[in-house]
Amino acid sequence: MVTGGQREETEVAIIGGGPGGYVAAIRAADLGKEVVLIEERDRLGGTCLIEGCIPSKALINVVELAETARAARKMGLTFSELSMNLDALRRWSDSIVDSLTRGIDGLLKRRGVDILRGRARFDDNHTLSVDGAGPTKLTFRNCIIATGSDINRLPAGQQLPLWSSAEALRIPEVPPRLLVIGGGYIGLEMGLVYAGLGSQVTVVEFFPRLLPGADLDLVDVVVRSCEKRFHEIMTESRVVEIQKGGAGYVVTVEYQGQKNAHEFDQILVAVGRRPNTDNLGLEHTAIRPDKRGFIEVNPCGRTAEERIYAIGDVTPGPMLAHKASREGKVAAEVIANHPSAFESRAIPAVVFTDPELAWTGLTEREAADQGLTVNVGRFPLAASGRARTLGRTDGMVKIISDPDSGRILGVGMVGPHVSELIAEGTLAVQLGATVEDIMVTIHPHPTVSEAIMEAAEVAAGSSVHINPPRRPQGAVAMRAHVNPRRTDGGCEGCPAAES
Ligand code: FAD
Repeated sequence: MVTGGQREETEVAIIGGGPGGYVAAIRAADLGKEVVLIEERDRLGGTCLIEGCIPSKALINVVELAETARAARKMGLTFSELSMNLDALRRWSDSIVDSLTRGIDGLLKRRGVDILRGRARFDDNHTLSVDGAGPTKLTFRNCIIATGSDINRLPAGQQLPLWSSAEALRIPEVPPRLLVIGGGYIGLEMGLVYAGLGSQVTVVEFFPRLLPGADLDLVDVVVRSCEKRFHEIMTESRVVEIQKGGAGYVVTVEYQGQKNAHEFDQILVAVGRRPNTDNLGLEHTAIRPDKRGFIEVNPCGRTAEERIYAIGDVTPGPMLAHKASREGKVAAEVIANHPSAFESRAIPAVVFTDPELAWTGLTEREAADQGLTVNVGRFPLAASGRARTLGRTDGMVKIISDPDSGRILGVGMVGPHVSELIAEGTLAVQLGATVEDIMVTIHPHPTVSEAIMEAAEVAAGSSVHINPPRRPQGAVAMRAHVNPRRTDGGCEGCPAAES
């Protein structure tokens, strides 16, 4: 880590070196500001890099590779049984995190950002105490709070050494029977990792469905796949008691008023995260977190204190690294007096299950909740040539649009590589594109991305590869669609075709 930070005053103090804080530091320094970044851990990168996005995706990649290799047997690929060397796997995952954290150190060093190691607390609205190697006072002109989030704990089993996602990512062991409490994206991703490593995985979810937030038709595809890999998925079920016993733990689960005891060797608690706003000294400022601990901000990232900004997981909205980074850039630009605001029309969300699930902008469920009438075009991957060559036909792309203007309001997908493809949907929503815009955009063949164009065609009622509903005899053909951006009446120099 870059050291220094002996400065006693700075133009911009940033608390937290995650994807919100370090990105804000770089942007502010690039815009000519003097920046001190305060981080209490010995490495930069925050939850995302050290115990979140990156190590989880490294492990997911490995178990998916093994799964793909096994599935390739039916394509004629033969090999002896795969084996997994856990030490090598841990070393490989750690090496990715190490090289990325070193990369962040280098980026900050080149920008002249000072790094102060220790825990920061507000003394008042322009001074921080930093409790690190030696207590330090830092006076700032502007401050960005980027302290991220921490795991939620369960009331049951408080005193027991249950795993959080951070412990699970270190793979201390592969328990024969693993209970995952929580059917959100972290629970499912980690459950699939351990199922791939050989654990018998049970998932308990309090709500009636997994992955709240995503549309059910998309989630159903993931659930079907998880049911094949997991031992059991219990929804509408609540863990009421956890006791040490048997080879590990005896867990009492309540379902529809009935309590049943189950034995597990290890338990992973993945019941959400809460913002890190405790013990920050906010009571010495005008900032009052809401009852869940989040700090309200305006579109510029400003809090109730004019010179204090908040970004990332401490602010309301989805707890995602790319949201934190975008907010970090906005706050830095506002501090540097640039006209900037968080105006993203869509924040993509990705679940790295198998198949992957991704959505952006409005979901069908949100549209229904808001009483909006929308047009939905769905294209099943079973009709995609590329999906067939991959042997991955489970899934679909759907486009949610305004029925009058054709404007794309949201995109959802489940299938191979959708974590990459969702960027096209986000761009479409951000730019206010219409279904016709996507239809007339040539997508490369054969790729899964064609399914986005195909879904747009379905939404516009002129799909080539999906049969239209049968027309009663004598009914008129469907509306022909042309490029909505053309206003010149068609192909120059051509006579009008006879109708
Ligand atoms: P953080 O990354 O949490 O960084 C905050 C930093 O502030 C930390 O380093 C902390 O040590 C430091 N800090 C806190 N308090 C103080 C203090 N008082 N003084 C000094 N330093 C302090 N998001 C995605 O977008 N995609 C994913 O695939 C994804 N996968 C995830 C998987 C897992 C298992 C987990 C747990 C999270 C995942 N996330 C993912 C969420 C993502 O990690 C967070 O949304 C993101 O890290 C938030 O960034 P942040 O900068 O707000 O906070």
